[in-house]
Amino acid sequence: MTRRMWQRAMIGLARSHRMTCFMQQSRATSFLSRRFVAGGTPADAVDYAQNLLAEHGIRSSLFYLGEYVDDRGKVSENLRNKLDVATLLAGSGLDLHISVDPTQIGYQVDPALSYANAESIAARIRAGIGNRVGAHCLMFDMEDAAVVDPTIALHDHLHAQGYPVALTLQAYLRRTLDDLEAQVAQGARVRLVKGAFAADGTVAHRSQQAIKANFRKLIARMLSRRARDQGFYPIIATHDTDLHGFARTTAADHGWSPGEYEFEMLLGVRSDVARALAAQGERVRLYTPFGRDWWPYAVRRIGENRRNAILLARSLIA
Ligand SMILES: Cc1cc2nc3c(=O)[nH]c(=O)nc-3n(C[C@H](O)[C@H](O)[C@H](O)COP(=O)(O)OP(=O)(O)OC[C@H]3O[C@@H](n4cnc5c(N)ncnc54)[C@H](O)[C@@H]3O)c2cc1C
Repeated sequence: MTRRMWQRAMIGLARSHRMTCFMQQSRATSFLSRRFVAGGTPADAVDYAQNLLAEHGIRSSLFYLGEYVDDRGKVSENLRNKLDVATLLAGSGLDLHISVDPTQIGYQVDPALSYANAESIAARIRAGIGNRVGAHCLMFDMEDAAVVDPTIALHDHLHAQGYPVALTLQAYLRRTLDDLEAQVAQGARVRLVKGAFAADGTVAHRSQQAIKANFRKLIARMLSRRARDQGFYPIIATHDTDLHGFARTTAADHGWSPGEYEFEMLLGVRSDVARALAAQGERVRLYTPFGRDWWPYAVRRIGENRRNAILLARSLIA
């Protein structure tokens, strides 16, 4: 089975309502949720983040599970969980990101609702920071190509008002170098990922080789001397060890010290690599989902690597 076919099959499993209900209720699959998810509630997630920092010196980016939501009840539930995390952060001593998809907080219901909700989360985070400059921020995840412009506009709107926000950009999109230039110019915080979506060849790089080449070009820009002078903060979010090496060399060549940029990876994926980077003095963060709706997320993670077939087989035959 090709990488693309495997990924499509896993996306099909992630979208199946029956499969989701079955898997989330089965005790046999609890090992999967423990691997990829930090627990069911905001308090579980903040405890997890505290332990990760204490034991491994690794920071967290917390994400309440549930995407592409088009009913107001679910939007309110998502908002409540994000706000609860933001409240728990005040006084926690953590340096934590709260990750948000615009479609989770109402973009598909009414774009104005997503603006109001994003602002209330950012305001709650800002209230909890006190005078700890650089601590905590609202990180906008990036979804499919259709919502890139609205997501950037929402980020820029809050950034211009001085809220602690950050933006994810995707190396698979051809437009990203231009988007990155605009973020460097405003001294923003940007998390660079390869991109978990596919799009037409006119707007996107389609081969892994081309995406990786673009990722390098973007790292060079993020870790340039000019970006540093602008007060830009780079977050390199990949499990690709070649790209980690390239970023570290580029950073050192251009006068960046560890801690002035960071690496981010996903909970449950290459934790050996994350720990090794942290042990070598790099700042490392783990994207840490929480919530009860974990199957669609976990099966998409499984779909990113065919070697994970063994995990899937174990959950299906257990
Ligand atoms: C912190 C973070 C935030 C993200 N946010 C977004 C977002 O907002 N929008 C978006 O479109 N995408 C997002 N992604 C997903 C991203 O776009 C990629 O799909 C994903 O990270 C896999 O690409 P990679 O860079 O790790 O490289 P790959 O080439 O896929 O992986 C590099 C190596 O890492 C290992 N590996 C990678 N994934 C797995 C896995 N699931 N299981 C086991 N081993 C694995 C393998 O050894 C592989 O050889 C995010 C990723 C991270 C790390």
